[in-house]
Amino acid sequence: MYAGLSYDESKIKSCSTAISKLSKSILDSREEVPERIKYWLIDNAASRDVEKYFMKQIKIRSKFRCGNVDYASWRSWLPSSKPEERKKVFDYFVKESKKLSPLIQKWFNVYSDSYRRYDCDVLGSYFDTQKIKMNSLVRLLKTLGREGRHAFDSGEIESVVGHPLKYYDEYYYLGSKLRLGVQLKLDTLPSIKKIFSDMGFDFDKVRIDSANRKKKFGYGYCISPNPPEDVRVVYRSVGGLKETEVVYHEFGHAMQGISMTGSFFKKEVIGSSINEIFSMFFESLISNRQYLGEKGIANPDEIVHREKLANKLFFAGYAANSFLNLKFLSGGIKFNEMDETYGELLKKYTGIETPGGYWKLHHILSEFLIYSPSYMISHVRAGGLNKLMTAKFGDWWKSKEAGNHLKRIMADAEDIKLSEFSSI
Ligand SMILES: [Zn+2]
Repeated sequence: MYAGLSYDESKIKSCSTAISKLSKSILDSREEVPERIKYWLIDNAASRDVEKYFMKQIKIRSKFRCGNVDYASWRSWLPSSKPEERKKVFDYFVKESKKLSPLIQKWFNVYSDSYRRYDCDVLGSYFDTQKIKMNSLVRLLKTLGREGRHAFDSGEIESVVGHPLKYYDEYYYLGSKLRLGVQLKLDTLPSIKKIFSDMGFDFDKVRIDSANRKKKFGYGYCISPNPPEDVRVVYRSVGGLKETEVVYHEFGHAMQGISMTGSFFKKEVIGSSINEIFSMFFESLISNRQYLGEKGIANPDEIVHREKLANKLFFAGYAANSFLNLKFLSGGIKFNEMDETYGELLKKYTGIETPGGYWKLHHILSEFLIYSPSYMISHVRAGGLNKLMTAKFGDWWKSKEAGNHLKRIMADAEDIKLSEFSSI
């Protein structure tokens, strides 16, 4: 579906029904299972009904079309758009997004009900799985959010983007402008292949789909249907620094996927903020001056500067996203207050008055009950891992010993010893 290939909806339905049934039967048997597996079963128990509403949401969304721009092509169209077109398309999508509200609310409720049924709550399970406490997370979000806001207030983002920022110059547009505006003469796949080989990872174990299919969604993702044997990286070739960043990120996931060992549960049930450590860690090479210098990049300082700004944009956007998740799931706001709250949060972290209904069009907020904070947590943890690897191995991307060390950390999966490299 996301790869822009044809798919059989009835197969998706029968799989999610079977997964739901099996998960419910284990939960109802009151068999003792570790907490994290219990949460995973609760999620899966809800999967049949979630899938039902989610597929409807995708169908409605796929009909959104303003001129030549539809939902699937919106983000890749943005960098080449004119301001008046961008405004028209943004306003149209936000207006149409109202049609998604009842469906999103339904699948949100299905998850919450499933947790309630088994005496758990979504937020409690999230903190357990991500190995973080609420107050540490809030502190982290506020600190990074402030850094993000500063990049807007100081005009740093505006000066690279090259014009005054309006509400319709939204997150994806700004991210693309910061990264697409500069060409990075780096042969992405061969460069990654070299790192894999130098560090002792088997690049050929990763299946790659870089075809530019019309209905392919977003920039890229990595899935591991059966790690370590079946690991896939799917992306769109959009060029520039943006493509390089996406592909490095996804290959960080792939590196982890092909390094997984042990039982099904060990490989399958891993918190999102653990998974994202390795993708963000690997992606950080794109802002590593030493690495860029070695690759013969002519303008490393500019690349590093743009990557730093893209990070600050991410802090601002994801502070808003994360607080929306937390406010809703802690019961601080109701579903029908989410639009207004998101508008206030965007204003708080970017300084720009933006229609809050936009959250239903964001690829993370509209597709996960809670995921945004995981990126912020992982960012800090990935920074810690980078420091540790650099201290131990210097240019870690060229070292087999560093590869072995990383493999050991990755193989620990959910038992990862975060205190080895992270303060949170
Ligand atoms: Zn990722």
